[in-house]
Amino acid sequence: MAYLTLKNINKIYPNGFHAVHDFNLEIEKGEFIVFVGPSGCGKSTTLRMIAGLEDISNGDFLIDGVRVNEKGPRERGIAMVFQSYALYPQMTVYDNLAFGLTLQGVDEEVIEQKVQNVAKILGLTDYLERLPKALSGGQRQRVAVGRALIRKVGIFLMDEPLSNLDAKQRVTMRSEITQIHQRTGASTIYVTHDQTEAMTMADRIVVMKEGYIQQVGSPYELYFNPVNVFVAGFIGEPPMNFSRGTVKDGKLMIGKNAMDLSCKLSSDRLKEYEGKEIVFGYRPEAIVLGAVAGAQQITASVELTELLGDNTNVYVDIQGVKNILKIDPHDTPEMDTEIVYSIPTESIYLFDGVTEKVIK
Ligand code: ATP
Repeated sequence: MAYLTLKNINKIYPNGFHAVHDFNLEIEKGEFIVFVGPSGCGKSTTLRMIAGLEDISNGDFLIDGVRVNEKGPRERGIAMVFQSYALYPQMTVYDNLAFGLTLQGVDEEVIEQKVQNVAKILGLTDYLERLPKALSGGQRQRVAVGRALIRKVGIFLMDEPLSNLDAKQRVTMRSEITQIHQRTGASTIYVTHDQTEAMTMADRIVVMKEGYIQQVGSPYELYFNPVNVFVAGFIGEPPMNFSRGTVKDGKLMIGKNAMDLSCKLSSDRLKEYEGKEIVFGYRPEAIVLGAVAGAQQITASVELTELLGDNTNVYVDIQGVKNILKIDPHDTPEMDTEIVYSIPTESIYLFDGVTEKVIK
């Protein structure tokens, strides 16, 4: 049996708003799970139900096979780090770390040992006598993580813990949190709206939209096998290119480019979709410049190029359809020129125009 089981979890707020619908998930001991999705999709609500800070309207939440719906946060053996790390400004780092244990009446010597231990894990040993205002954002964030870490718990919850940091600090803290996770071995559920955080940190990602789980899978699975247009567009930066069109004689027109769908769909499937709408998708980084035999070719005009150093984003127009390509900076084309590029068959995704589910 899984360590954590969420079975048909629903949240209906007192005002009648149904924020989370039939959330089902099993989490193993030591797994790093990331909930990701746009603002308002129900990530925090689900996390707060797991923490015991929000009632579960319907469904069961089990820890190690025991239903804990009615148990409070402390009884669940859960520690949580929030977006605002709310350190006590008048207390030193040491006292901030020790506070929870002091309240519990834990022996001074034990507290000292635990604080030193957590400080060592987090690289805070030299800062223990400082006040929070004398720390950088990243160091404050580490103190907040340390406060949660100091209680030995099996479950660690984090709600957008890096959102107050600058881009550089986020990258550093990302890998630090991953390392801390590996050292503690606690099951971790991490909420973010940032797909890069999700991709780099998670064992498995849960993509949510409007209160519903869209897909659960490893970063690899979500990137290469998205189940629908939403997941395909959410994972990956820049996002996947999409064009809608109606299938005619087994082909889909994108601008003046006739895309031959027979390379992706069986003849039965093609017949089924004749006259219907399909969403054609490919990732910006999946293209090859020039015409490649056996691949789909597209002719497009270059509207804008952005040199980012390791690659160039090329904004193209295919007779009104706007797409982005990610290419080697040495191949950056001139603006206002026409280019030809190829999309390998295996990099093409087709989705049903109505359900937006992937067509297999
Ligand atoms: P964000 O990334 O912006 O924090 P989220 O995915 O974490 O978003 P939630 O905070 O879980 O989203 O909110 C989900 C939905 O529930 C939102 O539409 C929100 O407005 C609504 N909601 C949250 N709290 C309440 C409440 N107390 N009463 C009614 N509706 C609420």
